[in-house]
Amino acid sequence: MEEEAVYRILVADSLSRKGIEILKGEKAIKCYVWTNFSPGELRATIREYDGIIIRGKTTVSADIINASERLKVIGRAGIGIDNVDVQAAMRRGILVMNTPGENAVAAAEHTIAMMLAMSRNIPQANASTKSGKWEKGKFMGVELYDKTLGIIGIGKIGSLVAERAQGMKMDVIAYDPYISPDAAVQKGIPLVSLDDLLSRSDFISIHTPLTEETGHLVGAEAFERMKPGVMIINCARGGIVDERALLHALRSGKVRGAALDVFENEAAGNNPLFDVENVICTPHIGAATNEAQQNVAVAIADQVVDFLINKRIRNAVNIPIVSPDVLPVVQPYLDLGKKLGSFLTQISDFAIEELSIEYKGTVAEYEVSPITVSILRGLLTPYMGEVVNFVNASIIAKDRGIRVRESKSSSSEDFASMVAIMAMGGGERNIVAGALFGTKDFRIVQINDFRIEAVPKGNMLLIHNYDRPGVIGNIGTTLGNRNINIATMQFSRDRLGDNAISLLHLDSVISKEVMEELSQLPNIISVKHVEL
Ligand code: NAD
Repeated sequence: MEEEAVYRILVADSLSRKGIEILKGEKAIKCYVWTNFSPGELRATIREYDGIIIRGKTTVSADIINASERLKVIGRAGIGIDNVDVQAAMRRGILVMNTPGENAVAAAEHTIAMMLAMSRNIPQANASTKSGKWEKGKFMGVELYDKTLGIIGIGKIGSLVAERAQGMKMDVIAYDPYISPDAAVQKGIPLVSLDDLLSRSDFISIHTPLTEETGHLVGAEAFERMKPGVMIINCARGGIVDERALLHALRSGKVRGAALDVFENEAAGNNPLFDVENVICTPHIGAATNEAQQNVAVAIADQVVDFLINKRIRNAVNIPIVSPDVLPVVQPYLDLGKKLGSFLTQISDFAIEELSIEYKGTVAEYEVSPITVSILRGLLTPYMGEVVNFVNASIIAKDRGIRVRESKSSSSEDFASMVAIMAMGGGERNIVAGALFGTKDFRIVQINDFRIEAVPKGNMLLIHNYDRPGVIGNIGTTLGNRNINIATMQFSRDRLGDNAISLLHLDSVISKEVMEELSQLPNIISVKHVEL
């Protein structure tokens, strides 16, 4: 007689066969493949399931999560989790997991394919030959051999592209301000400044996430600094390359060719770059290989089985490591930790080699390792994006050459409970500390040598200046002239009274030009934008 299934899993988006086979091969699991649900149907049926597996199509909203009764895990085959309400799942103690990194090889191979196709005019020659022409003289190419490839962002995909390009005897250099020089040496790739990379490279390939900092990173100014005849490849995210500036650089002849898999607006039905002969394009298919789709299906099936049956957690996006009874007490520290980590990264212009974390006062009585993980997640997410989760944050930090030290003390100066974190690297350091006010509210209470009390939320500017008359007025006038409203503003002076900081909350996003204008004002030492 067949043993009764213990866990019921719903596969709600189409999933590669190998993944389904893994689920069906488990006696303790009953797997139902039922795609094309309407949200109403999913809400009605979700209470029957212990787990749901989706790809990018099905949305698991708070409404659906709240209608569940026995749901324990939501598995996303792929990376992006915009279609899952992670907060709602967290509140209900439901684990959300994804499969980062499973499509890295696919994306790296696509990059190489695009580079070769562009350098030898393959798409153009293919179209011409198939139209009956025989234009042997028209498609003169360039070789990759002995050319310099500049890689912007040397993470998982950038590293795989580097290895493959070195195999084709290219000289590979990379720019990545967030990777420690030691980790780059281990990868065998020389790290250079962005300026260096732009002026030395024959080919430039981008492999960063799209963040505030990388948006239009390759824009008019960058093109100006490049070698004439440079070729650009973007298989990362649309918006990192400024498409208008690229169009201009192609028309002027500064850029010889561009190979694009991603666009500022997708689906890119109509894009002026499509009319340029030496631009080749694909419709965001970097991850579209049978193997990558199979990898994500197998990975998510394995992870879900491992969690339900063996109670082992991999690639969790939310918090599995805190038991439900302790969670309400620890939750505010997890939130505070994530904000502090993110703040610290955004104000640090150096590759972090060491992170030191001090837990002071009441918080030191708890098991703090989940808070440390939350801090690391906050620290890495601004430049790595959704791939960083509660399980891999520590591993990613280690791989990137960040040493983490924790210490605890029962005294906490003026606050019942305080978390202070310090980042060090390349001879520089930054400190930020936060404290809990009551049971849930938290504030940033220290930035480097300055005491402050600020809500870590929203769109902020951190300005460091010499403490002279007129500085604050100039900042207000500059922002006012640009129609940017200051919601709140906190000041603090150091003990000697010579240096000061201001932390401003702004009502609207600030452009790079306004940041530049602020930094040119008299007595300003630095201006940093922080988004929490
Ligand atoms: P990753 O997180 O492993 O690596 C990203 C790297 O970029 C990190 O090393 C980070 O330090 C670096 N970085 C961040 N900000 C930077 C900056 N301002 N300047 C220079 N470097 C910076 O990510 P990954 O898995 O290698 O993915 C890279 C990109 O490829 C992502 O944007 C991802 O979304 C994209 N991607 C596209 C496809 C596709 O279908 N075309 C498929 C997979 C991934």
